[in-house]
Amino acid sequence: MNLSKKILSWYDNNQRTLPWRISENSKNNQYYRLISEFMLQQTQVKTVIPYFNNFVKNIPNLKTLSKCSEKKVLKLWEGLGYYKRVKNLHKTSKILIKKYKGNIPDSFEKLKDLPGIGDYTANILLALIYNQARIGIDGNVKRVLFRLFDKDIPNLINLFKTKRNNKLAEALIEFGALICKPKDPKCNECKINSMCLYYKSELKTELKKKIKIKLKSYDIFCYLKKNKKQIALTKNNSVGFLKEFNLPKIQTTSKKVKNWKFLCNFKKSISNKKLNINLYYKFSSRIPRKYNWHSLNKSNDFIPTFTKKIFRHVSRLY
Ligand code: SF4
Repeated sequence: MNLSKKILSWYDNNQRTLPWRISENSKNNQYYRLISEFMLQQTQVKTVIPYFNNFVKNIPNLKTLSKCSEKKVLKLWEGLGYYKRVKNLHKTSKILIKKYKGNIPDSFEKLKDLPGIGDYTANILLALIYNQARIGIDGNVKRVLFRLFDKDIPNLINLFKTKRNNKLAEALIEFGALICKPKDPKCNECKINSMCLYYKSELKTELKKKIKIKLKSYDIFCYLKKNKKQIALTKNNSVGFLKEFNLPKIQTTSKKVKNWKFLCNFKKSISNKKLNINLYYKFSSRIPRKYNWHSLNKSNDFIPTFTKKIFRHVSRLY
């Protein structure tokens, strides 16, 4: 499945119901798109919704808008800010009625000549109303594309070949608003993550973080029986994650070790921890309470692999 198909299929299942998203065949479609695009400049969807509903309730079509007083349209815009937008919208409505018989022109140049319509608004209106192969690049779309390809794409539309240009233009904006959000994009549930460079680099960073586990040092002290190839083990160690392991005495490396002989150093990974082990020993026939003697040769008892590794090192002493 190509990129547009994936984004469109996501959009078909997840698009929000918004009051200006009405049937393309509805007579109000052009008007609703024009009003909403002016309102959405610099303003969030959730803020726009009640203003849009109230505006079209009071001024239901382009002709009425063109005949309204500026005072009335300003009043309906009150609180939405950027009042230059509504003044331009009002002027545009008069030109559309006078020059274009109440229709939105289907050419980029003609649209750009209208007050308050820049590149973005012209592109998105042409895509939404005339299904032209155009993409309105707002902040959301810019972010999605930059994350996907890690660069500005000069000829975007070649990447998104589809017959549903109107839906794709809207789907990209919706995708940026709901999935590829500015903070904490929902990469794990994103349908295009396998194509996304940002996602791949994030995975690598995560992997590096996992690999960079800090090495922690421990001392292990083995009581050994002189002539019998036996080692004293206990489950009574104080190192939390090794509790219940049958091990010699183990403690975090903190002080200088006295009265024990150094045997070797080795590294060992246990679950998500990496241990740096200093192994010490002493021959002794007496062992502390809660310790038991174990044969260093094969035994029927269950011995964890970590303990077996210690067995192998100390066996060299016999
Ligand atoms: S994987 Fe993440 S960053 Fe990439 S497009 Fe999807 S949501 Fe955006």
